[in-house]
Amino acid sequence: MAREIVVELPRTAYYTGEVIEGTVVVEASRDVSSRGLYVDFTGTEETVITRQQGKVALSCPNCGGPPTNVDRFGIATCSYCGTRFLVR
Ligand SMILES: [Zn+2]
Repeated sequence: MAREIVVELPRTAYYTGEVIEGTVVVEASRDVSSRGLYVDFTGTEETVITRQQGKVALSCPNCGGPPTNVDRFGIATCSYCGTRFLVR
């Protein structure tokens, strides 16, 4: 088996300043000495402006799932993937 490094993240969208938690899996065919592992993440930002009137019912920008647990700032949590997004 070839050496492989896989980063497993619970979701693909994050807000500015949000802590990313996940798992880094290192697979090797034999014991490999190492002095450390550096992981760099590069992100892209995508902004979608939607004009609507009245009550807003948006779906998750990551997976299209329905929003739940809208907090007092209008931030909802996707019931499927856990992405947080603005609903009003
Ligand atoms: Zn989602």
